[in-house]
Amino acid sequence: MQDIFIPIIYLFSAVLFILGLRQLSHPRTAPKGNTTAAIGMLLAVTATLLNNQILDFQTIFIGIVIGSAIGAVLAKRVEMTSMPQLVALFNGFGGSASLLVAAAEFYKGEPLLVFTLATIILSVLIGAITFSGSLVAFSKLQGIMRGAPIKFSGQHSFNGLLTGVVVLLAVYAVLDPAQASNAVLAIIVIALLLGILFVIPIGGADMPVVISMLNSFSGLAACSTGFVIQNDALIISGSLVGASGIILTDIMCKGMNRTIWNVLFAGVGYDAEASPLEVDPMKTVKSYEPGDTVVIFENAKQIIIVPGYGLAVAQAQYMVHELQELLEGKGVIVKYAIHPVAGRMPGHMNVLLAEANVPYDSLYDLDQINPEFEETDVTLVIGANDVVNPAARHDTNSPIFGMPILDVDKSQTVFVLKRSMNPGFAGIENELFYNDNTIMIFGDAKDTVSKLVSELK
Ligand code: NDP
Repeated sequence: MQDIFIPIIYLFSAVLFILGLRQLSHPRTAPKGNTTAAIGMLLAVTATLLNNQILDFQTIFIGIVIGSAIGAVLAKRVEMTSMPQLVALFNGFGGSASLLVAAAEFYKGEPLLVFTLATIILSVLIGAITFSGSLVAFSKLQGIMRGAPIKFSGQHSFNGLLTGVVVLLAVYAVLDPAQASNAVLAIIVIALLLGILFVIPIGGADMPVVISMLNSFSGLAACSTGFVIQNDALIISGSLVGASGIILTDIMCKGMNRTIWNVLFAGVGYDAEASPLEVDPMKTVKSYEPGDTVVIFENAKQIIIVPGYGLAVAQAQYMVHELQELLEGKGVIVKYAIHPVAGRMPGHMNVLLAEANVPYDSLYDLDQINPEFEETDVTLVIGANDVVNPAARHDTNSPIFGMPILDVDKSQTVFVLKRSMNPGFAGIENELFYNDNTIMIFGDAKDTVSKLVSELK
């Protein structure tokens, strides 16, 4: 009976994973997508446990309780702005789980087929790189390590050399399984080192891309481990994670107009300590108090709100929605312009605004909204910086040259809400702030928006 039922449950859970992914592609259905995929995972885990009788149920239950408690506390306490770090940790755990399972399978000491040995080596290799690389990515984003690229001369050649040694060790182990024990151990150690060396030269600003790639790696490691222990559910879910991680990486790279090779090997990054941003003292900006802006808001036909990372930091989404309702009550059309890499993850702004019940049909993608800025009276940039920097259009020396941006400077008046003249994630000056039609409103985004709301009331 088990031989028939277990594969059917795996198949059913795979269908739920795919349906879940499909539902995740729209904010309206995303919460349902999470539940669908979670049910799929619960089914797969239960089927695996029933199938293999791996551990006694008491141990499993203790594991579930401890794991669920840690997961629930993390999910409740971690801020949306720290989500990339959390994902990095999860990837690291995924990678280490694959590493441990494959290594345990190897060190059981049973005779192994060449194919199984090859998949074990692949699992420990990708799992170890994912584990140590994810911990470095986590440390960079959490501020435990310096975010700026850490480079030394001959770094790429050294990494290449280590990769070559790993390949040779893998070939040696597969050709002579009886002598493979030390080779597998050496592969694990070098792979852990490679994970660190591979991530340290990448700047903190590119870390979300690296995390998404490591996410894909954790899927590949799980898939490979699925072959080791011949578990279909692991093969399918690992492939789905591997593929979706790569698609997400591609979306981020396109959003910044960079290639993945540029992200991984160019060491692009800004070191605020080594080279603080110099601002020309002759350049001045116009700055208003929130109360000075009421007439302009009330007389506008259309206002476009551009949310960025600062809106997430300030948790201003609820206030922004209140502002939208107030303006709409006065007959103003309000739209939101969502840049694909605004914030720290693709979809960051959509999730944030959905949390505050902003209607989905008020949100517009870059391509949809850009032609509208010229006809817009007021654009309200809230905690966004790099994604509205016009230098990306014309300054060939700018590190963000070529990145698609929201053309906010083309609207009649641009209000920029931020706390200071400090740069954004890319660490570069924003010429938008000095334009004649730009007015800065300095302060925390939530405070400023709430003052705007009370003035408008
Ligand atoms: P930025 O990081 O460019 O700018 C955010 C701005 O918010 C800062 O200039 C900061 O200025 C301001 N800010 C911070 N806290 C507050 C606050 N409490 N109130 C008001 N303002 C605040 O954000 P963007 O969203 O414009 O750009 C995203 C950046 O992240 C891009 O460089 C993008 O390439 C990068 N990135 C994004 C990825 C993604 O998938 N989303 C992936 C990889 C990289 P101040 O300190 O003066 O207040």
